[in-house]
Amino acid sequence: MTDPAILRIAIPSPLRRLFDYLYPAELGPLPEAGCRVLVPFGRRQLVGIVIGQASSSEVPTDKLKPIAALLDCEPLLSQNLLELGSWAASYYQHPIGDALSSLLPVLLRRGEPLPSNAEPAWQLTTRGKGLPESALSRAPRQQQVLQQLQLRTASRSHFQQLGISSTILRQLEQKGLIEQIELAPEASVDHSNLLAEPSLPLYPEQQQALEQIQLSGFHSYLLDGTTGSGKTEVYLQLIEQVVRKGRQALVMIPEISLTPQTLQRFTSRFNCPVAVIHSGLTDRERALAWDQARTGRAAIVLGTRSAIFTPLKNPGLLIVDEEHDSSFKQQEGFRYSARDLAVWRAQSEQIPLILGSATPSLESLYNCQQQRYTRLVLSSRAGASQQPAWQTVDVRQHRLSSGFSRELFDAMQTQLDDGNQVLVFLNRRGFAPTLSCHQCGWIANCHRCEARLTVHRQINRLICHHCEFQQTVPTRCSQCHSVQLQCVGQGTERSEETLAALFPDFPVIRVDRDTTRRKQAMQEIVAKIHSGEPCILVGTQMLAKGHHFPNVTLVAILDADAGLFSADFRAAEKMGQLITQVAGRAGRGKKPGMVILQSQHCEHPLISTLIHQSYSEFCEMLLTERRLAQLPPFRYMALLRAEARNMTDAENFLAYARQLAEQQVSPNPDISYLGPLPAPMEKRSGRFRQQFSITCRERPRLQQLMSWLCPQLEASSLGKKVRWSVDIDPQDM
Ligand code: ADP
Ligand code: ZN
Ligand code: ZN
Repeated sequence: MTDPAILRIAIPSPLRRLFDYLYPAELGPLPEAGCRVLVPFGRRQLVGIVIGQASSSEVPTDKLKPIAALLDCEPLLSQNLLELGSWAASYYQHPIGDALSSLLPVLLRRGEPLPSNAEPAWQLTTRGKGLPESALSRAPRQQQVLQQLQLRTASRSHFQQLGISSTILRQLEQKGLIEQIELAPEASVDHSNLLAEPSLPLYPEQQQALEQIQLSGFHSYLLDGTTGSGKTEVYLQLIEQVVRKGRQALVMIPEISLTPQTLQRFTSRFNCPVAVIHSGLTDRERALAWDQARTGRAAIVLGTRSAIFTPLKNPGLLIVDEEHDSSFKQQEGFRYSARDLAVWRAQSEQIPLILGSATPSLESLYNCQQQRYTRLVLSSRAGASQQPAWQTVDVRQHRLSSGFSRELFDAMQTQLDDGNQVLVFLNRRGFAPTLSCHQCGWIANCHRCEARLTVHRQINRLICHHCEFQQTVPTRCSQCHSVQLQCVGQGTERSEETLAALFPDFPVIRVDRDTTRRKQAMQEIVAKIHSGEPCILVGTQMLAKGHHFPNVTLVAILDADAGLFSADFRAAEKMGQLITQVAGRAGRGKKPGMVILQSQHCEHPLISTLIHQSYSEFCEMLLTERRLAQLPPFRYMALLRAEARNMTDAENFLAYARQLAEQQVSPNPDISYLGPLPAPMEKRSGRFRQQFSITCRERPRLQQLMSWLCPQLEASSLGKKVRWSVDIDPQDM
């Protein structure tokens, strides 16, 4: 009798290792790597992923447990993806089983079978067919569904994309007008009829960019194109070429920009299935989209961060749009950067990678300087529209009334009177960031965080934006009982109120997390803006990204100074990106645009370079600073964070971490240690926070050190008293 085979299995657990199991012969032929199995683990059964066969195990064979069941007859994850996941786990110092498990959609992590490919769809019942056109005119959404179904049967996801909720569909079902059916998966792409609309004739710069991009083999390109320069058109034409070759394109976009508008640009260009992968999907929808990509039925896959792990049958192109966006970095647990993994993935799949942005990250610009990436520049806006003109208002010399200078007010009035729209940017939601007592100077602070409570007036609450603590707005000072409490500073809610009073003839539309919480809210707002009527938009960075509002001619930036004096070394870079992106909303139509920036530091070299020269020169300045300070991208960084109910526990743990690290590699010109130091927000949710950073000239050396250090820290008793984490290439300090 031959010995049973030993399989190495990845299991979702905090342990940083793989586990060996026996594979009983009665389960059939040995599964390939990438199949799921059910295994006993402690007292539970867990879903694991087969990594490969082991010739022997450290555990004696008679102690090894057998696999309980084989869940897949073909691998769900390709060898490439398993390698990507394993590399990411080791690079980001995350337990491998947990990392690999997170490559699967939740449904599959739970051990459920792949959902059926047949898509649920809706058709008219006989009764529905008999209805006159004018029926249901009082329920326009329902009528829209019926009109759609008169033309042809449509899938549930089609209605989702149109923004029609399942409630509406169910109402129609209850009325006996429509019924559910299962639609067979769509056939493969029809190449003769791939384009649903003609592609645009390219402008010279677009054409040049397109010609420089090699569609065979691996290479990274940075498509550095100002806002509105037509990057998306370049993507679309590249995708067309790739799909014609029978290959797939994976397009990564930031969390916030996955709007129906973005999706529509892809679906209206191509007559081929587009799978969409993001966090708003149900588990089933997500697994379905994932499987469409895996089996090659979806020629185009559009997704947010986690979509970087989507299996692709015939990968041909990887695009990361708005590559500078911080949502590509996961901020908890498995702290990977989808943008950085895209480089790894494109290389292992031997396909081109396009990183696109109007405000590229310093990392990517530096990679271009190092000739690791090829930089392709689109310097002018597509079509008639021009880059906006800038104007600064020094708020130390001009009186502000509720945050608005006279200059700004007049400029707004002129634009509105001319029938244009104005966008006011203020990256702070709520009514006011501070509530204070006029008598004694008391300030309403969060008792759990080192932070002030934000006044939200419409709901009459004080809210901590860091730990979600809430209370009713007090009527008296908690220290001297005076009733003279005042709101200090501006939030979007207050600006909305001010603007409504200053410009009574024009609607004011506020866009922030509070006004867009409801599901369809953002879409309704966008529709209102697209109607083109003169109005004032006031909002946070939600307004900055990706939107194309052709009637906005004036963008006002109320407070540009937040990023200038921050402890976070990336703050200035982020400020520059945000200002440039917001400014890019101005003058995207036929009329010229203008940007007015209010600042206390108009002559600050960073601000003046950004607005009088260019984002690119601004970045040159920052790169020089980073080089001198020996910070990323010139160095690679790992940040250890620790938090505890008392400060010394957190500090002691990190001091121990530093001691260990220094024993292993003593400080030298190539590696430096900083900390433990209090985190920029020292206390949060009732815990004290400390951090310790390691910067190193070479990536592999840092990785080596961290791979040695992390298991030691995990084993240490000091570590049990604190919550700690390690963040490689941290985005936020
Ligand atoms: P970006 O992605 O760089 O912000 P977009 O691709 O959204 O820019 O393009 C901005 C606008 O210019 C869009 O309305 C787009 O349809 C239009 N546009 C882009 N390229 C062309 C072209 N070659 N010819 C005509 N219009 C174009
Ligand atoms: Zn008081
Ligand atoms: Zn708090």
